Amino acid sequence: MDLQLAEKRVKELHKLLNQYNYEYHVLDQPSIPDSDYDRLLKQLLEIEEQFPELTTADSPTQRVGSEILDMFEKVQHQSQMLSLGNAFNEQDVLDFDRRVRQLAGENVSYVCELKIDGLAVSLRYENGLFNLGATRGDGTTGENITANLRTIRSIPIRLNREVSMEVRGEAFMPKRSFEALNLQKAEKGEEAFANPRNAAAGSLRQLDPRIAASRNLDVFLYSVADIGETGVASHSDALNLLDTLGFKTNKERKKCENIEEVLAYIQKWTEERPNLPYEIDGIVIKVDSLKQQQELGTTAKSPRWAIAYKFPAEEVVTTLTGIELSV
Ligand code: NAD
Repeated sequence: MDLQLAEKRVKELHKLLNQYNYEYHVLDQPSIPDSDYDRLLKQLLEIEEQFPELTTADSPTQRVGSEILDMFEKVQHQSQMLSLGNAFNEQDVLDFDRRVRQLAGENVSYVCELKIDGLAVSLRYENGLFNLGATRGDGTTGENITANLRTIRSIPIRLNREVSMEVRGEAFMPKRSFEALNLQKAEKGEEAFANPRNAAAGSLRQLDPRIAASRNLDVFLYSVADIGETGVASHSDALNLLDTLGFKTNKERKKCENIEEVLAYIQKWTEERPNLPYEIDGIVIKVDSLKQQQELGTTAKSPRWAIAYKFPAEEVVTTLTGIELSV
């Protein structure tokens, strides 16, 4: 591809990806499957790698999330809420491991977690009391959805200790709630939600908290913002700290001493995924040591110490409502 052709394709991809981002993040109504979106984004990344001069600050490869709706009060995050780089196959995971070891040394342990298909939320506690909950928004600024998050029973209103901290996690809609909701929608002749992720996002971005309360949402917490202040030395310890404080974390996580163990974990959950009561769209792999995480640092959009392995796209499935949806 020559520069002129690349420039033209970059423009097209910006336009398309911005439109899909808007539909997905603002309207909670995607018009294409995530795998198609990921493919287009990958194409843009590849062109930008080949022609770095075509990477602009407003490129979809440089941005986290999307616009923030005006109907919610804006919330400034204590530290940025980033996205994750993607791996689509074993080779991508091996390449990630190689990059990590090049920068952080040979002695690296990873923590593998299920990638819950929901939406990232940030919860702030003052002296042990939950007082602010927000969406990720554009990563720096989110939407204040405290009233809706308070309706999720697994979010503690009071912690076991009187600490002040901001924690991050994934709010999601369990499969059973999603099926029941779409059945209800079909009975009313309303449009079905494309997937549990969009249903969860749609439920939490409502002005009336009674709607969120009726949707049986749940949450798993997976990180602490400004973790340096907690005195823990690793991501596994941070997750254990969250448990101790009374948060709900996902118990399927596993510490892996090398990349072969990571690949085995991916294999296990690729097979066992249908048995889970909630949707996952991949596996998140994180360097365990916080010192090594700091050495690796972040890019504009995602940390270099973590990656999301994405499961291959599933075939078109028929939901309970009989509507064919591609997930
Ligand atoms: P991402 O989903 O690839 O990964 C980052 C997110 O993973 C985090 O923000 C967090 O919310 C989540 N996550 C779940 N479990 C986690 C864990 N254990 N630890 C850390 N994070 C965890 O990236 P993204 O920026 O959130 O969104 C991009 C996604 O949205 C892609 O899957 C893309 O396909 C989809 N998308 C689809 C369309 C469309 O039109 N279909 C448009 C835009 C985006």
